[in-house]
Amino acid sequence: MKILKFGGTSLGSIENLNKVKNILKNDYDQKIVVCSAMSGVTDELVSLSENIKLKNTEQIALQLYKLKEKHIDVIDNLVEEEEERRKIKKGVSKIINEISELSTMKYSEVLHSKIITRGEALLTHIFSSYLNLIGVSNELLSAEEFMWVDYIENPNLEKVSKKLNSVLVKKPNTKLYITQGFICRNNTGDIDNLRRGGSDYSATIIGAALGADEIQIWTDIDGVHNNDPRYVEDTFSIPCLSYNEASELAYFGAKVLHPQTVFPVIDKDIPIVLKNTFDTEALGTIISNKVISKGIKAISAKDNITAVKIKSSRGLMNYDFFNRIFEVFNKYQTSIDMVTTSEKSISLTVEDTDNLIEIQKELEIYAEVIIEPHNSIICVVGESIITDKKSHKLFDILNHISIKMISFGGSNNNISILVDTKDKTSALRILHSNLFLVQQEVVM
Ligand code: ADP
Ligand code: ASP
Ligand code: MG
Repeated sequence: MKILKFGGTSLGSIENLNKVKNILKNDYDQKIVVCSAMSGVTDELVSLSENIKLKNTEQIALQLYKLKEKHIDVIDNLVEEEEERRKIKKGVSKIINEISELSTMKYSEVLHSKIITRGEALLTHIFSSYLNLIGVSNELLSAEEFMWVDYIENPNLEKVSKKLNSVLVKKPNTKLYITQGFICRNNTGDIDNLRRGGSDYSATIIGAALGADEIQIWTDIDGVHNNDPRYVEDTFSIPCLSYNEASELAYFGAKVLHPQTVFPVIDKDIPIVLKNTFDTEALGTIISNKVISKGIKAISAKDNITAVKIKSSRGLMNYDFFNRIFEVFNKYQTSIDMVTTSEKSISLTVEDTDNLIEIQKELEIYAEVIIEPHNSIICVVGESIITDKKSHKLFDILNHISIKMISFGGSNNNISILVDTKDKTSALRILHSNLFLVQQEVVM
């Protein structure tokens, strides 16, 4: 069994849907295909949900109309036969009517998840029907029936496996299943979502639950690149990454992978292969437990980071001071990314600022606290990176950019640098040319 995931860009137009169709037609293995929504649709649904919250009824009506037209247009262009078109359009109308009904209800987190995950329902309905019509026989599986994720870091693999297997055993001869990414049910059984970009994670949860042979993530680029191609030129694809390397890159901002993607498959040692829908011959990237090479391999950046600088204002012993600080963050379930310390001070970074005002108030009982928003963490990744002789070159960026914090040695595979977000692009470019583009040093 293989799991293939196609992202929004791969599903964003008739031409691209046909490319995906060809990839599926030429692969004879049994597989589950996880689809996200057509590109732009989830953004539109997020905005729709916001309008429901604000009760902007005119905007809601307009958005529903646009959403329906967009999907009807796909059907008109994909399907030739009038009667078949009518049938598929009926399914689209049903989903749009559901969204319309939801939009008259009281706003809640569950309602929000129900709305924003409808893009996947629309696309998979159309694509599965179309494939069946042209002889690529498949079964459409409803992910809300089997995708149980108690909370974001904790997929219920046992339950997913049981639910999925009970469906699969009934149809042992089915070679191709299609299902939706992104949607899940949480520990209370409510509809929830796996956060933006979550279909990658859906694919690895399904792969781990079924003990798949391989998970393929098909996207618009030839694998994981050694730097963020949205900000840096001359990046190149990395053929092999270890699970450690890939999870650090994903966690620290490499958009090509959802931050949680790698975790479900590490223990089961299932390889994740990133492939390019638009260049099927390109090798892409294989993520597995193999460490093919050590040293600096790639750079990523994560925005919206807030630095919290805390200085003890009372004569607390340093073990007591540090203990109290971490207790406060623990109380508000706020994760810390970077930490640096001196005897009476500690600087750390957080991404989640929902409870930062309360945290600050509690810390100020025994410390001076300075909050600095608008930072980015630049993360340099590679197995055993801290022993790489090239690491010193990282610090050359000090000649050009002011670094606010450095974390070296927290993990063997990651060196993190905090910079003001306005300096992020320059930092990525300088590091790229220092680490990847300069000629090899002569060994003395
Ligand atoms: P999909 O719709 O297939 O899920 P995404 O837009 O989520 O695709 O991810 C692919 C995009 O991620 C690429 O087009 C690229 O711009 C961006 N990206 C950011 N960092 C990296 C990286 N290190 N390697 C490859 N792509 C990256
Ligand atoms: N459609 C969802 C999003 O845009 C999930 C995904 O693309 O993976 O975030
Ligand atoms: Mg994505």
